[in-house]
Amino acid sequence: MSLSLDEIKRYSRQLVLPDFGSREQRRLKKSKVAVTGAGGLGCPISTYLTLAGVGRIDLIDMDRVDLTNLNRQFLYGPEDIDKVKAERAAEALTRINPEIEVNAINEKVTYDNAFDLLKGYDAVVDGTDNFPVRYAVNDACAVNKVPLFHGAVLMYEGRAMSIIPGETACFRCVFPEAPPAGMVPTCREAGVIGAMTGLIGSIQALETIRYLADQEIALKNTLLIINADTMSFDKIRLTRRENCTACGEKFVPKPVDEVCDTRIAATEGRS
Ligand SMILES: [Zn+2]
Repeated sequence: MSLSLDEIKRYSRQLVLPDFGSREQRRLKKSKVAVTGAGGLGCPISTYLTLAGVGRIDLIDMDRVDLTNLNRQFLYGPEDIDKVKAERAAEALTRINPEIEVNAINEKVTYDNAFDLLKGYDAVVDGTDNFPVRYAVNDACAVNKVPLFHGAVLMYEGRAMSIIPGETACFRCVFPEAPPAGMVPTCREAGVIGAMTGLIGSIQALETIRYLADQEIALKNTLLIINADTMSFDKIRLTRRENCTACGEKFVPKPVDEVCDTRIAATEGRS
């Protein structure tokens, strides 16, 4: 897969990086990535993957744009309200970079469909904001052996970790069970500011780009915790659990309580 003259010019500022050249750009070009959620995290994730030249991006989200999304979800404007989010985002991203393919998948990720939906990708980047979907995405990526780039934001705290199947701890290795429904507030209840989802989504995108380009990534077996009140960036070392029900020796399906899912769905869209 070669690069056109336009592509060489478009990506020239990254092609001059000392550790990034034509080989790395061509690796991005042939990569196929799924982004779950086209919300607060999904907007920066998909925008930076688009700008960097990831060849195919599938955006999975079933929500419609709401006025309350517009403090952080920068791919949408007032004219997009009530329109299908994944479709509007795909159009905006295609306008930014027509060299790549962006597909809208207007579906809700569930424990039942995640294993089929997230098959065959070079990476999945998780931009969802609730535990049932987060665990479904983790378990599906562990079983399908697809690298997963996790991120989450709650008020002024953000987290990110990169999960390489067979090599690193997965989300369930670190957090075997979801917290009880109602224990962790949603972004509607707790509040969220766009710069915060932008920060974490950018980190997820950067880790994904570096992984796809075959470069070293920093968040393997590492949970990054950012506290924007103090601007502290802390890294917690993680280890894989042999008896993890997702990535351990024996896979055990463990869907997270739908009660929690219903409650979140009823109160707010994606982060
Ligand atoms: Zn695990």
